[in-house]
Amino acid sequence: MGGWEEGSWKWGDLGVIEGLLGEDGVDSRYGTLKGRLVEFGGLKEGRDVVVWRGTADTASSFSVASCYDYFRRGRIPHGPFEKNHGAFGLLWKSEVPHKVKTFGWRIFRNRFPTLDLLLRRGVAIPANSLNCILCDTSEENSKHFFFSCEVVKKVWSEVAVWVGKSESNEEDCKVVFLDWHNFFRSKKVKKGKEGMIWLACCWPLWIIRNGVRFRKDKWSVNDIVWNIKLLAWKWMFFGKITHPNFSYYEFVMDPLLFLS
Ligand SMILES: [Zn+2]
Repeated sequence: MGGWEEGSWKWGDLGVIEGLLGEDGVDSRYGTLKGRLVEFGGLKEGRDVVVWRGTADTASSFSVASCYDYFRRGRIPHGPFEKNHGAFGLLWKSEVPHKVKTFGWRIFRNRFPTLDLLLRRGVAIPANSLNCILCDTSEENSKHFFFSCEVVKKVWSEVAVWVGKSESNEEDCKVVFLDWHNFFRSKKVKKGKEGMIWLACCWPLWIIRNGVRFRKDKWSVNDIVWNIKLLAWKWMFFGKITHPNFSYYEFVMDPLLFLS
């Protein structure tokens, strides 16, 4: 760049290598820049020093915290704040096997290979096979399959009756999760068990969906609901167990008592 020579600053080649000087326009621009720099003359107060400008207070020196803050300020958030984002934290606190939490996360993030997503990725699916395997009236996507489908609504409704919850018309996955979570919290179930029934509803739906789609398995709403109850019973033994001697029959008769 340049350097001090006998008390005054002399500009060097400014990083322009000799081979470039012959190229079109480089000579004139190089000459113009050097002329301007000589005209400017530089600041005579002293040698250049490295100064950290990452903090609002220019007098402060560099610190790891100020560097972190500098990059954090420049971060572009992934879209606006989402009010139901808290569902993620509650999901991870659920006392269920880890793979089930991951399953719930995939629902929240719409990461299931439902037919709409496969189609978007370029998978060839015949037009007459795009419908939901349960109702066969709407195209399959995650929201429809887990929450909006008329058949699935019957499943949610039966499970709601089972635990004594009022029905809800919500269809957004995180809103439905929070609705169920809040219901169980209001019933003072054990911490970590609030989201369990919601997960126990979604998991068998997907398993049955795959069985029907790939193996032509038979199914009925009643079967799905019994699968949900059985799964919820099994998952009750995950984490802290306060009623180890309750039978499956007792659990089905009064799930809230068992969950509390
Ligand atoms: Zn459907």
